Amino acid sequence: MRVLFASSEVFPLVKTGGLADVSGALPAALIEAGQDVRVLLPGYAGAMAKAENKQPAGSLGDPLGVGAEARLVSATLPGSGVPVWLIDCPELYDRDGGPYQDANGFDYEDNALRFGLLSWTAAHLCTEGSPLAWRPDVLHCHDWQSGLAPAYLKAWNVVDRPATVFTIHNIAYQGQFPPDTVSRLGLPWDMYTMAGLEYWNTLSFLKAGLVYSDRLTTVSPRYAKEIQSAPFGCGMEGVLASRAADLTGFLNGADYGVWNPADDAYIPHKYQPADFVAGKAANKAAVQAELGLAQDPEAPLLVIVSRLNDLKGMDLVLSVMPAILQQGCQLAVLGAGDHSLEDGFQAVAAVNPSQVAVSIGYSEPLAHKLMAGGDMLLMPSRFEPCGLTQLYAFRYGTIPVVHVTGGLADTVVDTTYDGLMTATATGFAFEHANAGAFQWTIERALDTFRQKDPWRKVQSSCVCQDFSWNRSAERYIALYRALAG
Ligand code: ADP
Repeated sequence: MRVLFASSEVFPLVKTGGLADVSGALPAALIEAGQDVRVLLPGYAGAMAKAENKQPAGSLGDPLGVGAEARLVSATLPGSGVPVWLIDCPELYDRDGGPYQDANGFDYEDNALRFGLLSWTAAHLCTEGSPLAWRPDVLHCHDWQSGLAPAYLKAWNVVDRPATVFTIHNIAYQGQFPPDTVSRLGLPWDMYTMAGLEYWNTLSFLKAGLVYSDRLTTVSPRYAKEIQSAPFGCGMEGVLASRAADLTGFLNGADYGVWNPADDAYIPHKYQPADFVAGKAANKAAVQAELGLAQDPEAPLLVIVSRLNDLKGMDLVLSVMPAILQQGCQLAVLGAGDHSLEDGFQAVAAVNPSQVAVSIGYSEPLAHKLMAGGDMLLMPSRFEPCGLTQLYAFRYGTIPVVHVTGGLADTVVDTTYDGLMTATATGFAFEHANAGAFQWTIERALDTFRQKDPWRKVQSSCVCQDFSWNRSAERYIALYRALAG
């Protein structure tokens, strides 16, 4: 089966969150299972620099009239060797900031064109006009940035088109633009209706993907149900409910080639997951030293690796900070996002430097060190489509403390007496996203932490779980086969 992925982020070329991890690891797992998968992404400057084996692969012309020719570059992903195509168009993609926002955190004004071109190209590669001989049996689009691709195929009335799958990684991000974007992107006005591209008088890339794709998937079974109702659907619940029969939730996986303490180039002390006690202690001491925290093996080290916003429940963390610091905890935060939250965390760290360390920004090495050195990972997300960090934390013997939502509900088993006795408990979970429930759950975790045996028991249940990509890859293959024979 030939499958074309279209995604705005692919690890290790460009990453702001879980979408990149999925777009890097799922194709590798599908290829290992015998499928022919290629990934299309924008040729951001950083991605072009990191991609390996680059070769020109043809011209795309200037389909959206940006005043410059776009070219396709074939390449491979470092590490996995997954084949990719980058859209080389410096006018749109060679920017100083991240993939979506400038260095000051503002969305690029021409994002409609930047991701319109991604969508257009994905659709174009499925047609006779493609500069490539390779044509997909399935076009698999990811999140709003490639959501217009199925709409283009519809608008062009492509005979013999591939089956289309659209995966929702996070429904909160929808890609809405003013109505005149419809003609700017060469889409017909008769598709700008309530049953089509239009969403509250805007053009919605996400809605296009939801309406015009043959099948919809999302990244956990629970999230697939949640998004069919308010407030989880973020306004798209009606559209999704009308497509309920075509919507499935497949749990994401963890790439153990990247996230494995036995073989992690970023952590100072490697250890086998099944033999974690000494290795975690050594990594914890190293994290405390690196971040200037008190060198105390008995102090519970709580870690966060996350975008800093309210959807991730980071305001709840700030609310419970005084209580957890009073209990002798240490907290190491790695993240970036809302400036008010960044400032809030930094203010607490300034007053409690031996207990709180805050690193604002993005750091792959520190993310790995925190997974290895932490005792608990805090994830009080209000919404969490799947969540990947808790899956990584499991493998490192770091116990997640989570709000019961989306993929967190599907992957973390709360530590109850039964859970401990049957060795199924893998974390601490709270039902209601409020500071009181969160604090109480951290306190429950701390009680267990202080009694070493049950804590080790939960850690042992965590490390031996298998969330590798193979299982999800099999599910996607079954879906592709059902759609494209
Ligand atoms: P989301 O995609 O909503 O951000 P996920 O849990 O699905 O959340 O995936 C987050 C991914 O991004 C993980 O691989 C995590 O390690 C990584 N990540 C998030 N913030 C940072 C950061 N500041 N530095 C390094 N990695 C980060």
